[in-house]
Amino acid sequence: MLLNHYRKEIFRPECNPSFQSLHCIAHLDQDITEVLPYLNAVLGGFEYLKEPPAVTFRIQGKIITVHSREIAVNALKSEEEADKILEWLKREINEAWEKRDEIEPKYEGAPKPKIFEILKLLPKTNCQECGEPTCMVFATRMAEGAKGPEGCPPLEGENKQALIQYMSRFNLE
Ligand code: SF4
Repeated sequence: MLLNHYRKEIFRPECNPSFQSLHCIAHLDQDITEVLPYLNAVLGGFEYLKEPPAVTFRIQGKIITVHSREIAVNALKSEEEADKILEWLKREINEAWEKRDEIEPKYEGAPKPKIFEILKLLPKTNCQECGEPTCMVFATRMAEGAKGPEGCPPLEGENKQALIQYMSRFNLE
């Protein structure tokens, strides 16, 4: 077993303490750097950094970043949810480590959509119906996985279908 114990720390974002979303940091008692490329291969990381070593996942609307000595999880509803995610990750980390001889390590994140390709298919009227100041900002948010094609009400017809098809190539949730 690579990871035995961690110390959990829960906090609310300082910018808005009343915000109903918790953040969690788990301080690991082992350095798990070596498992990161295997974990990335198994769970399909959104982003992989070699220096400092870290892999980021988007799972059920949450951003989970696994570093060498800590795990950060955002947008949690409760401490119980944090416990469930941390225990699941601990199992995944230990399983990936045990099976590392059978797994091809992966040293890069998943391919990402290109902002310009998204923008090409949007109406480009900057009407702000999506709540963003311009179509470019909306395209940027889509490329990050924070918005989907349905977030642009005037988008319809062939362009909408093309954008849905383009975005379906990426693992953005
Ligand atoms: S609703 Fe669509 S067309 Fe209007 S600003 Fe947003 S992305 Fe552009």
